Amino acid sequence: MKKIQMVDLKGQYEFIKDTVDRSIAEVIDSAAFINGPQVHAFQKELEEYVGVKHVIPCANGTDALQIAMMGLGLEPGDEVITADFTFAATVEVIALLKLTPVLVDVEPDTFNIDPEAIRKAITPKTRAIVPIHLFGQCADMDAIMEIAKEHDLYVIEDNAQGIGATYTSKDGTKVKTGAIGDVSATSFFPSKNLGCYGDGGAIFTNNDKLAHTIRGIVNHGMYERYHHDVVGVNSRLDSIQAAVLRAKLPLLDTYNEKRKAAASKYTRALEGEEKIITPVLVGEADAHVYHQYTLKIKEGKRDALARFLNENEIPSGVYYPIPLHRQKAYADERYREEAFGVTNQLAKEVISLPMHTELDDEQIEYITSKIKAFVNQ
Ligand SMILES: *Cc1c(COP(=O)(O)O)cnc(C)c1O
Repeated sequence: MKKIQMVDLKGQYEFIKDTVDRSIAEVIDSAAFINGPQVHAFQKELEEYVGVKHVIPCANGTDALQIAMMGLGLEPGDEVITADFTFAATVEVIALLKLTPVLVDVEPDTFNIDPEAIRKAITPKTRAIVPIHLFGQCADMDAIMEIAKEHDLYVIEDNAQGIGATYTSKDGTKVKTGAIGDVSATSFFPSKNLGCYGDGGAIFTNNDKLAHTIRGIVNHGMYERYHHDVVGVNSRLDSIQAAVLRAKLPLLDTYNEKRKAAASKYTRALEGEEKIITPVLVGEADAHVYHQYTLKIKEGKRDALARFLNENEIPSGVYYPIPLHRQKAYADERYREEAFGVTNQLAKEVISLPMHTELDDEQIEYITSKIKAFVNQ
């Protein structure tokens, strides 16, 4: 059996080596390292794939979130509601811009932001909601968009983990994540579902005016060379990364199908176990692209399971072990522990199994048999 890895980028590379090597060599040959034709071509191809009018590439997913918020003109003191259970980048950029993060609880089944908790957190200062399509599963966008409309709020999707997932609305319309809110942010960090070989990110929007504003912000606030109309940043996707992404984008659906197939095999093997709760898929099969395959382990056995797996050379991860409202940087005296019952519980129970495009049946069989042996010992 091949050594089991949390993410197997080397194995994935072997299948695309020729294309990737050739396009990287082309970039080096052309010496157009920044804003080369690869970047523009990738932007167009991604717009087409997502079904969104504007993709603005940038340096990483964290920048993408920050720039999206700058583009909307949010101002210090504005409240931005987001989930307590997510990667810190989401709340970090809110705080960095001197906006006020308002963390709320998530749903126990999907781990995604709870629309009822959003409703309760709205004040006259609320300006935006940031749902995250956590672990690759669509947040409850119908409910979130409805709340946003009622209260005149912006919706910024954090699509770093959800690229390629499709949300089906109550009325049956299907839209890819990242094309639903006012603006969204994604990451091409190597381990993401569409990853490059370094850092990369992008902002998506269907709003022409916002796209124009953002194109200036990513480029030092310039709309005309050496005229700096707004305070911007320097955030670019480099041409080599764009070349890698162009080779991988046509395979994204296949990659996501492989993740889904691995997820079903895990679930089939583990769903009968009393002490294990397998991931709950809400909606259609295309609503989850399994950036992570995350179990809940009952009876306080999570950490012992992680140790047991490690002893058996099976890597695992705990995303996320400490809720954001309990992090020093984001603590706020207004938070009450009772308001974060689900996140507090999840932080103790979740464990993510190896998940990538190269997992084979033998590995899945080995992993699930070890997990079953552990919970039944
Ligand atoms: C990865 C990630 C980010 C940040 O992306 P980077 O490219 O690493 O800056 C933001 N939000 C979520 C939910 C992520 O998973």
